[in-house]
Amino acid sequence: MTMHAAGCLYVVATPIGHLDDLSPRATKVLAEVDLIAAEDTRHTQQLLAAKGLRRPLLALHDHNESQQVAQLLARLHAGEQLALVSDAGTPLISDPGFRLVRAAREAGFKVSPIPGACAAIAALSVAGLASDRFVFEGFLPPKSGARRERLQALRSEPRTLLFYESSHRIEECLVDMIAVYGALRQVVLARELTKLFETVLSGTLDELRVRLAADANQRKGEFVVMLEGASEDTDARLLEGQRVFALLRDHLPASKAAKLAAEISGAPRKALYSVVSAD
Ligand code: SAM
Repeated sequence: MTMHAAGCLYVVATPIGHLDDLSPRATKVLAEVDLIAAEDTRHTQQLLAAKGLRRPLLALHDHNESQQVAQLLARLHAGEQLALVSDAGTPLISDPGFRLVRAAREAGFKVSPIPGACAAIAALSVAGLASDRFVFEGFLPPKSGARRERLQALRSEPRTLLFYESSHRIEECLVDMIAVYGALRQVVLARELTKLFETVLSGTLDELRVRLAADANQRKGEFVVMLEGASEDTDARLLEGQRVFALLRDHLPASKAAKLAAEISGAPRKALYSVVSAD
């Protein structure tokens, strides 16, 4: 590969689990650049060592990106070739690098992608959900209140929704999704992609909540959560079911009210319970 004569910033995707997913071109760029800006230098050091490479590294993470940009621009001005990597997958995708890329482009330097793994795209490619149009939302807020607000704002979004989630919040995340979207939305959980325990589960939100509650192994690792987009028909039935349930539960035992509301509206009984109990 011909490296650029003037300063150039390569944005290099690294594996999300399987070392062989570092492309030959990425390996070559990492072997040849003057400096690698890395989210975590120790982490990238291990990747380089696994590939038999040794290059100078500089830490570039969310807490020092603004300060490091000036130094990196100076190196580009001096004609150096730089690579930007994150711990896993594609830099800037829920990872640092945005300020550097913007500054390098504004200063007129070539910024060139070396594409490769990205968890969201890998997950979507095996989910079996509509993939012609989709919305990537990255990480939801860590606190439940803000998370529900964010989910609420996406309530009528018809495109497939993609989120990143960690193992310690995956169960709360499903509970909040049920509270906002009802138990019946189809969801696909892509866990530990390209790794030993890679698992892709699909079902309704409630089915997967139950599945994870019953099996601690299914709660481990890294997740991409993908939700079917809103369908006007399902949403209309749910809303009608909720309305009828709210009217009937003042006069009937809850189970009877839910049964009748489900029959009248066509919405599933379980979904009415979960939506109403979340109010
Ligand atoms: N830049 C990365 C990319 O291109 O996918 C994402 C970085 S973000 C900080 C890390 C999140 O990505 C994890 O919490 C998880 O949601 C998702 N992720 C990363 N690797 C994954 C994998 N092997 N399987 C499933 N999800 C993964």
